[in-house]
Amino acid sequence: MSNVETFDKSFQELHDLLKESFPELECLRCGYDTMYLMPNVAGLPGLPAITIVCARCGHIEMFHREVLRSASKPIPIEKESHGVLAPLTESGASVPKDDGNG
Ligand SMILES: [Zn+2]
Repeated sequence: MSNVETFDKSFQELHDLLKESFPELECLRCGYDTMYLMPNVAGLPGLPAITIVCARCGHIEMFHREVLRSASKPIPIEKESHGVLAPLTESGASVPKDDGNG
């Protein structure tokens, strides 16, 4: 098998794994639905990573390949869990108080 065939097979496997896991895959930052799949980008040593890059804003997202492979699919998207950055309310007790001296 040539390197090209190996690359194509690897790319197709990762593409299929992502599509099976997230049928409605979109950028977590801007919501765009076209992503670059970077199958040969290394993660940390010993970390088999799949990297995708938003084709519009460039946001990078990584998945642990084996965790993604073993997950039950499709994986539901929790829209509520990643919204805009918001200040904690007063019930957020861990927020340090600004005493005005800082
Ligand atoms: Zn984006």
